[in-house]
This record gives sequence, C-alpha cells and structure tokens, in this order.
Amino acid sequence: MASRVAVVGAGPCGLAQLHAFEEARRGGAEVPQVTCFEQQGDWGGLWNYTWRTGLDEHGDPVHGSMYRSLWSNGPKECLEFADYTFDEHFGRPVASFPPRAVLRDYITGRAGKGGVRRLIQFGTAVRWVRYDRGAGKFAVTVQARDGGRARTEDFDQVIVATGHFSTPDVPSFGGFGQFPGRILHSHDFRDAREFAGQRLLVIGSSYSAEDIALQAAKYGAASVTISYRTAPMGFGWPAGIEEVPLLSRVEGRTAHFAGGAAREVDAIVLCTGYRHSFRFLAEELRLRTPNVLYPAGLYKGIFWLANPALMYLGMQDQYYTFTMFDAQAWYARDYVLGRISLPPPREMAADIARWRGRLAACAGPADEIDFQASYLADLNKQVDYPGYDLDLTRAHFKDWEHDKMTSITGYRDRSFSSPCTGTTAPPRHTPWWHELDDSADTFLGHQA
Ligand code: FAD
Ligand code: NAP
Ligand code: MG
Repeated sequence: MASRVAVVGAGPCGLAQLHAFEEARRGGAEVPQVTCFEQQGDWGGLWNYTWRTGLDEHGDPVHGSMYRSLWSNGPKECLEFADYTFDEHFGRPVASFPPRAVLRDYITGRAGKGGVRRLIQFGTAVRWVRYDRGAGKFAVTVQARDGGRARTEDFDQVIVATGHFSTPDVPSFGGFGQFPGRILHSHDFRDAREFAGQRLLVIGSSYSAEDIALQAAKYGAASVTISYRTAPMGFGWPAGIEEVPLLSRVEGRTAHFAGGAAREVDAIVLCTGYRHSFRFLAEELRLRTPNVLYPAGLYKGIFWLANPALMYLGMQDQYYTFTMFDAQAWYARDYVLGRISLPPPREMAADIARWRGRLAACAGPADEIDFQASYLADLNKQVDYPGYDLDLTRAHFKDWEHDKMTSITGYRDRSFSSPCTGTTAPPRHTPWWHELDDSADTFLGHQA
C-alpha cells in the first residue's frame, strides 16, 4: 500500500476523495497519509463563490466560474450523495432545483460531518508535479500563496481534482478590438443585473449560453441574441431571446451573422466553454482532452494510462456530477488501499477503446445519459458505496431533458423523487422565472 497520497483541490471531487478515505479508516482499514492541497482559502471548489474575476489578490487566476443567481440546472435528486441525503442534511424535503448557496451548503455539510477538514492545507497551490522514475515517487512542489516559500514533498500517488471549468476557451471574432461595449467570457460573468437595459449577444449553444441568456432576460436585458456554431438549442425561448447562426464579425455595435442577419448589440458574453488545463503537471503527466464523456488516456475514467499512480477525478463532461465523483473517489481509494488491482496496460487501453467506441455510437442526450449511467454502474459494482436507484436517476434525466423542451423557463419548477430515500420533493414556492431572490434563506424559508 502507498504511504503518502496527495489530493490536488478541495472541490466536490477532492472532498469526495477525502471522504472516501475517511470512511475506510472509520471502517477499520489501514489508510495511507492523505494530504489535500487547496489554493483557495476555503473548500467547495466552484461552489465557493467569489465576486472576483481575472487575477486574485495573490496574482493567480480566479478559479471560480460561478455567478450570482445560479441555480442547479439538473434535479438535485440526480446528484444526491447516497451516504448523506438531502433529507438528512436539511431535516426535511426541499425542492428539486436549489440555488447555488444551498448546494454548496449540502456539499460542505457532508465534508464537515465526515471530519476531513484536518486533511486540507488551504491557501496552498500546487505549482509543479513531476514523476521521478528512479525513486518511483512524485515530487510535488507547493507554495503557500500569502508570499510563502515553495517546498517540495514526495508522494507515492497523486490524485488530480482541480476541475475543468475554470480556464476559459476564448475565440476571437473580427472587429472585437474596436467593439465599443464590454466583451467577456462566461468565466468572468458574475451578475446579470449588469446587463439590465442592454442588448446582449451570447455566443455558444450549451449550458452557459442557455443559462446566461435566461438570466440576462430575467434581470432586465433589453434583448438577448444567442449565436450558435453547430446547431441552435431550439428551446421555446421567452419574448426577447432569439437564436441566430454564428457571428461573422462586428462593425461598431453591429453584429453580423452567417446567413446575413445583423443586430445592434451593447455587450458580448462568450459562452464558448473551457479547457482542461494542468499547468502544474509535467508534460508527460498532462491530460489533454476536449470536454467529452470519456476522455482518452484514462482507464476507468480515472487512471493515467501511462502511469496509473497518477489519477484524475471529474474530468468527464457531466450529466452526473457528485454521484459520479463519489464512484470515482471510492474506486481510486480502493486501488490505493490494494483492494482493486489494475490489469496490464494493453488491457486497460482496450477497455478505454471499448468505452469510447460505445460513446461514438451515442446519438443524442438520451444515449449519453445511459452511457454515463453505465459508467457509474461499472465503478459502483466494485466498491462499497451505498446502493441507490441509479435507474431512477436515468429516468429523471430523460424527463428533465423533455421538461426543458416543454418549457425552458419552467423546467426548474418540477419535482423529482429521491433515488436514496424515495421522498418526492415539494413544489417550488415561487416559479423560478419570477424568483429574483436566490438566497438560501428564501429558498429554505419557502419550504415551511
Ligand atoms: P472544482 O469545483 O472546479 O474544484 C477544483 C478545486 O481545485 C478548486 O477548489 C480549486 O481552487 C482547486 N485547485 C485548482 N488548481 C489547483 C492547484 N494547482 N493547487 C491547489 N488547488 C487547486 N454541477 C452540478 O451538479 N450542478 C450545477 O448546477 C452546476 N452548475 C455549474 C455552473 C457553472 C458555471 C460551472 C462552471 C459548473 C457547474 N457545475 C454544476 C459542474 C461543476 O463542474 C461541478 O459541480 C463541480 O464543481 C466539479 O467539481 P471539481 O472538484 O471537479 O472541480
Ligand atoms: P460546454 O458545455 O463545453 O459548451 C461550450 C459551447 O461553446 C458549445 O456550445 C460550443 O459549440 C461553443 N463554442 C466553443 N467554441 C466556439 C466558437 N469558436 N464559436 C462558437 N461557439 C463555440 O461549456 P458550458 O456551456 O460553459 O458548460 C460548462 C459546465 O458548466 C457544464 O457542466 C454545465 O452544466 C455547467 N453550467 C451550469 C449552469 C447552471 O445553470 N447550473 C450554468 C452554466 C454552466 P459547439 O456545440 O458548436 O461545439
Ligand atoms: Mg454540443
């Protein structure tokens, strides 16, 4: 068994990993020394919301991509921890689509109960990781961000849990340099009220584009034009939101689109996605992948094929989030504890190829949901994570996809049942489209 394990990041993935080790320890297992390095001052990853954008007070990029008034975009029942249910955390059933602060409270609630905080060094950034073949160890260089000196420690295994929705993918378009309004990436979007009264152009056709367009309209934008590259989202948008083909260039305030349409716009938000970025990893350890459900090079979606002592959590595109992170964390833990052994590299590569072949055959969201559910089931069957009704979550995700097509402003008003407790969530108090207050107090108070 390894004697020292480093976990990089204390977001939902890193916390799941620490929790998995603690559960084993409480169950009587001999567990290695686990150290988690977190560059932020607190846990929760992206859910640790900040008003800051750009560079932080230490000169590092601000990790957060969240914004005010962000609500869960999937039913909370589809991400419920099987060993720490929503009913347990809140003491009563709560509605299916909570605001950001409520989900953060839930994530950190389990971490607090599990007693993992003592394993985390906060305000400590991992600056460089390299593998020393001769020693069979990783040299991990960390730095306390308040001007502290860098130091290097040896670890037998490294688990990367740094997320992949923080480093923006930023395209440029003709005329941007002369555009008289604000241009920003969704990574730096913080408050839709900023665009009240403005004509907003949103570029992209995925979750960020959908949600930022709706947020802007909800908080008073004069109009929102969404420009797609591959295909429109095709929802029944409320008045004031429309989808048009890809931007070709801007001239002054006039945005020109493929096919000839033009609109006057005051500000532009690039909802063009994120890059997997691991500047702290030596070249040969770095995962390079687009945002897909099964990245190449990761056995079981976790183990770096070229050196499985390096593990990655949460690097997939995500229908499932917290329950997928738990499945991965339990599996990685059991490998570290020697409960699971890995096959020879050739077999691992063949297994990755089989999963990616199946992914290539997926024809749309329903297939993708089944694909990711199968991936979770494959991990779960080999670990002692508590059972829950995974098939129910699959059905929920498909209902949710359908709900979004029925009403993009109303899908967050639906109620789902828990795959862990069977509880059906109470309805929302105020329809989401009319709820301008995203505070936890209001959300929870309304449940009384
Ligand atoms: P993160 O949450 O990004 O955490 C990574 C942690 O690693 C951070 O704390 C960071 O500070 C730390 N870190 C990074 N680099 C270093 C380093 N070099 N040294 C030390 N520490 C480091 N999911 C949902 O389930 N529901 C939602 O409604 C939802 N909304 C989202 C909205 C937005 C705008 C975005 C961008 C994502 C959303 N997600 C949502 C998906 C999100 O990816 C997951 O919920 C979750 O936060 C991923 O956890 P993570 O631990 O992998 O990464
Ligand atoms: P994403 O899902 O990776 O989508 C990226 C989008 O950018 C795609 O539509 C892509 O278009 C487009 N794009 C990329 N390059 C482009 C270019 N050069 N020109 C035009 N379009 C381009 O990223 P995301 O939408 O930011 O979502 C990231 C994560 O955040 C998801 O997990 C999501 O669930 C989460 N999120 C949640 C909420 C919430 O409400 N809770 C809100 C926002 C985001 P193509 O299809 O053409 O490739
Ligand atoms: Mg797409």
